[in-house]
Amino acid sequence: MKIASRLNKISTYLLTEINSKKQKLIDEGKDVIDLCFGAPDYATSAHIVAAMHRAIDDPSTHKYPPYRGIKEYRKSAADWMKRRFEVEVDPDTEVIASIGSKEAIHNLYLAFVEPGDYVLIPDPGYPAYRTSTILLGAEYYPMPLLAENGFLPNLLDIPTEVAQKATLLWVNYPHNPTGAVASLEFFTELVEFGKKYEILICHDHAYSEITYDSYASPSILQVPGAKDIAIEFHSCSKSYNMTGWRVGFVTGNKTAIGSLGKVKSNIDSGVFEAIQRAAVAGFATPKADLQQLMSVYQERGNVIVNGLRSLGWSLKPPKATLYVWAPVPLGYTSTEFAALLLDKCMIFVAPGNVYGEAGEGFFRIALTVPKEQMQKAIERMEVNGIYYKKKS
Ligand SMILES: *Cc1c(COP(=O)(O)O)cnc(C)c1O
Repeated sequence: MKIASRLNKISTYLLTEINSKKQKLIDEGKDVIDLCFGAPDYATSAHIVAAMHRAIDDPSTHKYPPYRGIKEYRKSAADWMKRRFEVEVDPDTEVIASIGSKEAIHNLYLAFVEPGDYVLIPDPGYPAYRTSTILLGAEYYPMPLLAENGFLPNLLDIPTEVAQKATLLWVNYPHNPTGAVASLEFFTELVEFGKKYEILICHDHAYSEITYDSYASPSILQVPGAKDIAIEFHSCSKSYNMTGWRVGFVTGNKTAIGSLGKVKSNIDSGVFEAIQRAAVAGFATPKADLQQLMSVYQERGNVIVNGLRSLGWSLKPPKATLYVWAPVPLGYTSTEFAALLLDKCMIFVAPGNVYGEAGEGFFRIALTVPKEQMQKAIERMEVNGIYYKKKS
């Protein structure tokens, strides 16, 4: 049997090698602390599960759903955009349900990307932007996100020839893996850049609600005129502990939403209607419930940040996301340091280079295990003499 050559250009999952090492240790009965897994550890809230129970008992939800999502879902998503960001979107033409953002990200490429086109992707960044570019036979252009620029891309560094051949530009703030956030001023620059070069600006807002203290993450659609050139991806996965349910929505530019819809109508048959009804309950989650969950993540973040500081790191607690992004000590690559933590301390972290070349020199800690585990991880590092030594 002949497998398409495009499949040889991507790997199954970027963390496979270190993952198999971890599995071996677990099989040997070792007490591995997994700080790599980037998904919420809590169950979906009871009010969402209850809405699902009601919906699934109604046989009218058992049919093929409309591919764009049921009206109630699109309207509820549009109302949420209004409540949350003061952004008006038309539920009929500017909102489409997704089977999670990962699905919609790839299907958007089918609508917009041809061989030879460029796609501008954040480096480090969510791996799907890169793999979908490769699968479409297009070229990706990594925009390095550097600590000294607050992990924002410098648009002036993008060569004009690349910008002219680019069809999509991806950003994701609050940012996985660095935890960085972006301002409306930056989004305004992006919208101008997109208009200048006719590049669809795609904002992956997967962590819009995973924010701490008084920080509220803005929508790119708050920029006046953004709908001319931008779309935003929202997902219930992280916000409402719904990773397994596979539901989200994409909103913004009509032509882009319509084109994504055209692809999806030919490829999938929409989100199970009962899940859409459950997600409607998710959008209505009381603010206090969300805040309670955020205080749990924030406490874990503080344990890690204070712990690493006591070992010589100089770090600020993240304003958002489920991650702490930290530099590796002098003399190690990301891969070597992750291997050291696994071998010496049985701590599993993500080496920064798996998110792109510019992630080299960093590692990512996920705030998705109880704080006692975080404390234990810090203690193991201390016992094993793992400290931060600065590059001189
Ligand atoms: C988790 C994550 C996603 C995936 O979201 P789903 O809706 O579960 O597919 C997309 N983008 C980023 C940056 C993520 O971290």
